Amino acid sequence: MENSQLPGQRYDLIVVGGGPAGMFAAGFAAQNGARVLLLEKNRRCGAKVLITGKGRCNLTNSETDPLRFVEPFGRQGKALLTALYAFGVEDTIDFFEQRGLKLQTERGGRVFPAKGGAKDVQKLLQRFVQDAGVELLCDCRVKRLQIDADRISAIETDRGPFVADRYLLATGGLSYPETGCTGDGYAWAEDCGHKLVEPQAALMPLTLAEDWTGEWCELNLKNVKVTAKRNGKQLAERFGEAFFTRNGIGGPIILDMSREVRDGLKKGPVTLHLDLKSAVTAELFDKRLQREFSELSNKDFRNALGKLLPKTMIPRFIELSEIDPYKKCHSISKVERKKLLDLFKNLTLQVTGHEGLKKAIITSGGVSLKDIDMRSMRSKKITNLYFAGELIDLDGPTGGFNLQVCWSTGYLAGISAAQALTDCY
Ligand SMILES: Cc1cc2nc3c(=O)[nH]c(=O)nc-3n(C[C@H](O)[C@H](O)[C@H](O)COP(=O)(O)OP(=O)(O)OC[C@H]3O[C@@H](n4cnc5c(N)ncnc54)[C@H](O)[C@@H]3O)c2cc1C
Repeated sequence: MENSQLPGQRYDLIVVGGGPAGMFAAGFAAQNGARVLLLEKNRRCGAKVLITGKGRCNLTNSETDPLRFVEPFGRQGKALLTALYAFGVEDTIDFFEQRGLKLQTERGGRVFPAKGGAKDVQKLLQRFVQDAGVELLCDCRVKRLQIDADRISAIETDRGPFVADRYLLATGGLSYPETGCTGDGYAWAEDCGHKLVEPQAALMPLTLAEDWTGEWCELNLKNVKVTAKRNGKQLAERFGEAFFTRNGIGGPIILDMSREVRDGLKKGPVTLHLDLKSAVTAELFDKRLQREFSELSNKDFRNALGKLLPKTMIPRFIELSEIDPYKKCHSISKVERKKLLDLFKNLTLQVTGHEGLKKAIITSGGVSLKDIDMRSMRSKKITNLYFAGELIDLDGPTGGFNLQVCWSTGYLAGISAAQALTDCY
């Protein structure tokens, strides 16, 4: 599908980076009449798309109201509104369904392909780019931008120089570097005068001091409440799904609170407090324990937790409770029962750090929104430069929010760049 073109040819728009944002921008710019060249350093576009949603690609969230959609983005969220009004959640759903990919909404408003997954999303995007008439050059790494006063005059690549009227950067962030995301766009943006909000790992699993978490790693903890604290003060609290990893803890709610934990860790030790029985109060659950112990009266404590915990958790729970496993249930003291209750309602774990950019779903920070006209995605510093996707300082929680940023900003940047060309003729 790659077109053959020679360095030195002139394009209306060169898009750097063939991720979701770059493919969307290139395709919509070409559909709007621009001669577009898309440069991607990997052999294929969309390497990161393939690993999204554990291979299923959670491509948007079902929250269709733009004002509510931007809420979890915090203060930055409002800046996304123009792009969302231009290409919102419903447009995303139509875009994929009209091209034959049926979607379905799951827990938390997560929208996925009903069948197949990330591979189908990647293929569909490639077809879109091709059908729109974009000229695609893969295996081509952009090395630097040539800047003349307030304009980019050319870009240098390992396959020679390329020239266009306009340029669009969609090189993504720094996470999962094996997908080609090495933060090249950050340095170029900074070189031409844009402020950079420090890029940092976000939405990443946490590492724990407890060395036994691997024993529980195949368990999916549903309906768990997790509170992060530093010096007894609450940093974040989430309710939902989590799972243990070989050396820590991950899953949607952990990823979503990892930013607060990351920032908390810079000031001192952080603990996580897991409520494994969040549907009942401590008082009610204590009654349940009393009932259980009186029914099992003459049985050993080691046999008492079967109805309360998955099998794999029981040996470690018994050890943490410090109750003799052979003690008869009727002789468990109130103090011992309270300690056990605490393990269910307030299992305390010591955070040692986080998995960093290698395992982060997203990079927070990036090109400052203050230096981008968010009504068009055009740079305020360089007159013929546009930005889209994760490269800019916008990041949301898990649930399809981050890919929607790519579709919305990619669309708006592509359309604006194509529009600006027709405006000047
Ligand atoms: C494991 C994982 C799971 C995820 N799951 C989800 C999910 O289910 N839902 C969701 O909403 N988000 C998810 N995300 C986040 C989502 O993948 C990103 O937000 C999205 O890919 C960002 O798109 P982008 O186009 O801005 O950048 P990228 O997808 O990072 O694409 C940038 C492209 O630019 C290319 N490039 C970089 N530098 C150069 C250069 N110098 N020259 C040429 N090309 C270059 C790269 O090779 C890359 O192909 C996930 C992320 C990860 C890591």
